[in-house]
Amino acid sequence: MQPKGSKIPRTKAPEQSPEERKKNFQEVSLGYTPAMAQLEASRCIQCKKPKCVIGCPVRVAIPDFIKQVAAGDFLEAARIIKNSNALPAVTGRVCPQEDQCEKHCVVGIKGEPLAIGKLERFVADYERMHRNLEPVEKAPSTGKKIAVIGAGPAGLAVAGDLAKLGHEVVIFEALHKPGGVLFYGIPEFRLPKEILEAELDYLKRLGIEIKVNYVIGKIKTLDELMQEDGFDAIFIGTGAGLPYFLGIPGENFNGVYSANEFLTRINLMHAWEFPAFDTPIHQHKTFAVIGGGNTALDAARTALRLPGTEKVMLLYRRSREELPARLEEVEHAESEGIEFHFLVSPAEINGSNGWVSEIVCQKMELGEPDASGRKHPHVVEGSKVSLAADAVIIALGSGVNPLIAKSSSDLETDTQGHIELADPDINLTSRPGVFAGGDIVTGAATVISAMGAGKKAAQGIHEYVMKVKNSEKV
Ligand SMILES: Cc1cc2nc3c(=O)[nH]c(=O)nc-3n(C[C@H](O)[C@H](O)[C@H](O)COP(=O)(O)OP(=O)(O)OC[C@H]3O[C@@H](n4cnc5c(N)ncnc54)[C@H](O)[C@@H]3O)c2cc1C
Ligand code: SF4
Repeated sequence: MQPKGSKIPRTKAPEQSPEERKKNFQEVSLGYTPAMAQLEASRCIQCKKPKCVIGCPVRVAIPDFIKQVAAGDFLEAARIIKNSNALPAVTGRVCPQEDQCEKHCVVGIKGEPLAIGKLERFVADYERMHRNLEPVEKAPSTGKKIAVIGAGPAGLAVAGDLAKLGHEVVIFEALHKPGGVLFYGIPEFRLPKEILEAELDYLKRLGIEIKVNYVIGKIKTLDELMQEDGFDAIFIGTGAGLPYFLGIPGENFNGVYSANEFLTRINLMHAWEFPAFDTPIHQHKTFAVIGGGNTALDAARTALRLPGTEKVMLLYRRSREELPARLEEVEHAESEGIEFHFLVSPAEINGSNGWVSEIVCQKMELGEPDASGRKHPHVVEGSKVSLAADAVIIALGSGVNPLIAKSSSDLETDTQGHIELADPDINLTSRPGVFAGGDIVTGAATVISAMGAGKKAAQGIHEYVMKVKNSEKV
């Protein structure tokens, strides 16, 4: 009998070596081969009450899809995943699995948990390469029109589900490319854009129209969409893309960027390929990146790959243990040579001739856990450290853009501008027919939670418009 579970070591996916990858933008992880995927799937003990599923925000039937992988039926595995997750090629790459499904996998009690994320990614990639390009299945037209504002994971999830249910869906996106953070924030070496393009093609084949360069709140208001353009319901999934700054002296020197601007220039505008593309980016030698989340890690690893970069430091006010970024990204950043400085907090930025030259930090120590559950950092009085840098990237999180709420008086928000839900079970806002989900409601969170909110809202919108339709008939 074949050994199972923790008796077989976890199958490691091949990667580009750190030396090779730190100077290119190609994907770091190369993914499983079919044989590797089957070997990894054979470790699953097919629990009767699978705890991994409880850890998944959209409740993918994990043991069922893994069983099909072990049996070599990869397309059936893809079908099972897609019942609950519309973008598995994306989530297989970017979900923090160590805090979700894999954290709960029982094989992890005595050994290493199943590599559920890598298996999901393998299945999604296999399906993309072998996908049958027949027309996608959808219900007959309901004659109902839904506007989706924002083409991030929340908006894409809601649009896909509603189109399959037979509704006419139009997505309005402010930028010139759909995808939200998946396009402008997460770099190519973690999420190749061709994967996102393939997922977007699938949505277009469902008949969804995507209008880009279309800022709702400026070009049209919610009232105009409903009263003039005849939309029966609206979903707002505009994310949380407004960067926070430090509020310390020196933030206006040249060479200080928000991570949002820095990553958008590179990912969306291809600034590193200037002059072949229109947007330039200044060449720097030493970057100091402030923060410890996925955005900070993405900015640091992107900076490392730019021509002319000699050193990248990441400054974080807690210790390695508290870093909120995905563990895989932290390990990749360490092996690529990013210099981590823990327990430091920026106090001021100094410069000469208008350009950044150094960042002065205070040392920190950790106290008792705070409301976030992590140990609270305190300043060590009189302890300053100066680090030479000619660029500073601030990655301290982001807030929501108030544009839509300001142009619609009856949309309730909290004090930070997040849209408040009148009925969280269906993601309905205070305004009838207007639903919302993703970072605009929760604040900066994860791709899968935004998609989960989109799915929930899709069900709410479907019920809402069909009820209106039926009552119109009476
Ligand atoms: C750099 C970075 C790395 C990340 N890495 C990870 C990761 O590894 N794993 C993970 O799970 N999460 C990660 N996240 C978080 C995750 O990407 C977000 O939680 C998720 O994208 C939120 O989805 P959303 O659809 O709510 O919003 P977004 O992805 O922000 O999309 C919102 C869209 O709405 C558009 N929009 C805004 N206002 C308007 C308007 N008025 N009219 C029309 N369109 C508008 C925006 O242009 C954008 O395209 C990362 C975030 C960042 C910034
Ligand atoms: S908890 Fe682990 S072993 Fe059990 S079904 Fe899920 S993936 Fe398989």
